[in-house]
Amino acid sequence: MLLNNLRSIFVVTLITLLVMVFELFPLPSTDDIPAMAPVIDRPGGSAPVSLPADIPVHQRNIARAEGLAKTAAPDEYVDALIERLSFLSMPVRGAQVPDFAGQLPGSPRSYRNGVHEGVDIYGPPKGTPIYAAGSGVIIRADIDYEEFTYEERMAILKEAASASDTPDDVLDRLNGRQVWIHHGDGVITRYSHLDGIAPGVVPGKAVDADTIIGYMGNSGTSDGVANSQDGVHLHFEIIVDGYSFWKDLTLGQVKQVLKAVLTP
Ligand SMILES: [Zn+2]
Repeated sequence: MLLNNLRSIFVVTLITLLVMVFELFPLPSTDDIPAMAPVIDRPGGSAPVSLPADIPVHQRNIARAEGLAKTAAPDEYVDALIERLSFLSMPVRGAQVPDFAGQLPGSPRSYRNGVHEGVDIYGPPKGTPIYAAGSGVIIRADIDYEEFTYEERMAILKEAASASDTPDDVLDRLNGRQVWIHHGDGVITRYSHLDGIAPGVVPGKAVDADTIIGYMGNSGTSDGVANSQDGVHLHFEIIVDGYSFWKDLTLGQVKQVLKAVLTP
């Protein structure tokens, strides 16, 4: 009798303990796991690209925006954007935000029927390390990138210039070898024209501002196709909630935000 009672107490205690453990460490519900959806089908056999489904990247809207806003966004909006992006830093050590409009977002790119989406950092030679602009997770790394042939690039440019609705994969190809980082809070950074990708940089890898993600180059450009050392630059984009950060800004405000965020 006593033994039976002890056994019942033991079983009840065990069940109570198990319930407590499950409450402390619940199994993740499927709602908690972000769905990953392919956004860009990358030609050329590179690693598949997938971005969190809740952060769509409106590539079309980025590239085909009319350009910069004609009227200035309210100061509070600009201040809030600077605050939101303040965790970022310049991905090329010692580089500065350019002053020339052609190297900044929103500048027209008539040769491919659109506008420039990012900041171009020129100066350092091919192979200069590029650091993650801030903590985040790699969501794309074109490890198996293969450079265009001259004929392929000309055909793509012809397609881009003739179509009023340039296909996303064409725009993507012109960015050459790329790395994308998801920083959380709806912020993504994109690094284009890389010469190479740093060892171990693969989708899913966590990085911070001390992580070298790749090396400066000219892939995807006319110089890259010609296998020349010219035209080396980093094309760097900041995407906020799926749109280029500059979507509602004037040129002056673009410079204001970039200088505030990327100047050490
Ligand atoms: Zn660029």
